[in-house]
Amino acid sequence: MSKKIIIGNWKMNPLTLKEAEKLFSGIAKEISSIKKTEVVICPSFLYLEKLKKIRTSKIKLGAQNAFWGEVGAFTGEVSGEMLYNIGVQYVILGHSERRALGESSNDVNKKIKASLEAGLIPILCVGENIRDESHNYFNFVKTEIEECLMGVSKNSISKIIIAYEPIWAISSTPNRKDATPADCLEMVIFIRKIISDKFRKEAYRTKIIYGGSVNEKDAKEFLKNGGVDGLLPGRASLDVKKFIEIIKICEVLN
Ligand code: PEP
Repeated sequence: MSKKIIIGNWKMNPLTLKEAEKLFSGIAKEISSIKKTEVVICPSFLYLEKLKKIRTSKIKLGAQNAFWGEVGAFTGEVSGEMLYNIGVQYVILGHSERRALGESSNDVNKKIKASLEAGLIPILCVGENIRDESHNYFNFVKTEIEECLMGVSKNSISKIIIAYEPIWAISSTPNRKDATPADCLEMVIFIRKIISDKFRKEAYRTKIIYGGSVNEKDAKEFLKNGGVDGLLPGRASLDVKKFIEIIKICEVLN
């Protein structure tokens, strides 16, 4: 059975490298006995290379974006190859905070294909703004997945992680609401159906995870009853104690 996965999205935090090293080392120190859980931390680009030098076999590194070009005249961009070359293994793509800045599913699609080509594991984020009464949020998520995975080969689908992140539950969303494991489960079943229809049995091993204000208090319920293969905490991953607790909860359930 494949390992469950806990991925910390640090977003544009913390403010200094010193704080980033402290946070990373604090987590590394506490999880040396973890065996059944894959732990990934996605810091700012700036900190990746330094954190890579902190010795731990338990934490894999992920980026929060990667461009689709390999190398060349793309001012301000960072390619999947560059990330792979410094030891990064994962990359978050299509996060709602990037989509809000103008990134389209077409952009995400190109980034997914380029990241796979570079040898990275893409973590594709999808999720609706609101849960409307006529259930249009299902169509919304379906369209996002279809557009983002257009032209992705059957061989590659098991290498992609899909993160269901309802925007209305993310900690930075004004007037956010808590999602429940039941909300998560129905969407996970739906996402699995979409990728199974498209990729057939090759999609069985694709991990689907949940993110949206998940913390040490509700992680157990999401992992037990949300139908997921892991979690993507944002805010809680910036707190050593909370993040470790989430990892330990996952380890016990695995
Ligand atoms: C995220 O935005 O990826 C996320 C899950 O953040 P938070 O846990 O802070 O809602």
